[in-house]
Amino acid sequence: MDKTVQLLKELTEAHGVPGYEAPVRAVVRQYMESLGEISQDKIGSLICRKTGTAEAPRVMLAGHMDEIGFMVKHITKEGFLSFLQLGYWFDQVLLGQRVIVKTSQGDLVGVIGAKPPHLLPADERNKVVQKKDMYIDIGVGSQAEVEALGVKPGDPVVPRADFLVMGNGKTYLSKAFDDRVGTALVISALQELQNSPHPNSVYGVATVMEEVGLRGATTSARAVDPDVAIVLESDIAGDVPGIKEHESAVKLGKGPTTLIYEARLIPNLKLRKLLMDTAEELGMDTKPQETLRKSRLHIHRLRRKHAQRGLSGSKSPASRLQSSPQCPQGHFDRRSPPEFLLLCCRTLERWIRNPRKPRETARFRIHGHPETQR
Ligand SMILES: [Zn+2]
Repeated sequence: MDKTVQLLKELTEAHGVPGYEAPVRAVVRQYMESLGEISQDKIGSLICRKTGTAEAPRVMLAGHMDEIGFMVKHITKEGFLSFLQLGYWFDQVLLGQRVIVKTSQGDLVGVIGAKPPHLLPADERNKVVQKKDMYIDIGVGSQAEVEALGVKPGDPVVPRADFLVMGNGKTYLSKAFDDRVGTALVISALQELQNSPHPNSVYGVATVMEEVGLRGATTSARAVDPDVAIVLESDIAGDVPGIKEHESAVKLGKGPTTLIYEARLIPNLKLRKLLMDTAEELGMDTKPQETLRKSRLHIHRLRRKHAQRGLSGSKSPASRLQSSPQCPQGHFDRRSPPEFLLLCCRTLERWIRNPRKPRETARFRIHGHPETQR
């Protein structure tokens, strides 16, 4: 199997809902171990430092490794599990989803269900069933049986989905492409840099708990204290029926998108220009993209030597580079990452080959990551 495909398969099939990233972190760690010096921030984001010939500027490349999923909320007398969502789920894609309930005694298979349509009054049959009326069925008949299997409120629940290659051989189907594709790109970029000396330090970061409020982005950026950060995220595909050109020009396989607007962030203009110029030189079609999602802006202390020069980076936004589009069926995404990886690596390379003066680097200091409005 192709190296990139293998990486995507391993990463997307790994379990890791927000707060319970240990299984996917083990996979990421295995890949990162040979690529640099590994550390972890205090809530579990993994940081891999690939030292160049200079300490600074510090270049941070981040993708989140958590995925959307659920948590057991309550066990009913009949032996069903009510659940909380971790991250956002569109109600319409939930029914019939197979899941894995991760208990202290091991993994259990489950399926999301609701009251059968056959028993619904006619006027309710065409309505969307809401999450609150759904439950997880683990195939037992009583609360006591559920408890005997070790299920407890608070246990994480992961969607069960295998990595598959689709029709044309270039389209992949799996869960958690948001944002294991970003994580894969971080790993691939570090691999690309192994035989390439650079006057710089690169920090590849796989962050935790993005889906519940970008917690790992906050803490890991504090740990790394970067001069420049590129955030790798997934995007929405516009090449599906019912979407007009002005709503989304993003097409699967037609290049990555660059974020130009967020509800609470205008990404750094110089970094954005560098990125787009690089794409143009590579003959790559990168679409500008906007989002109504609200970013959390992470402002970090200036390093003393910069502060002494009276530079203020406190209003500088981050730049965010997005990966190729997402299919609308919720967590089943389709991607083709190699082109995106090329852009990402070349942009980084340019940063590394032409290190910015401190005055300029200070402007790139702040790392932001969008918070989904939910
Ligand atoms: Zn994401």
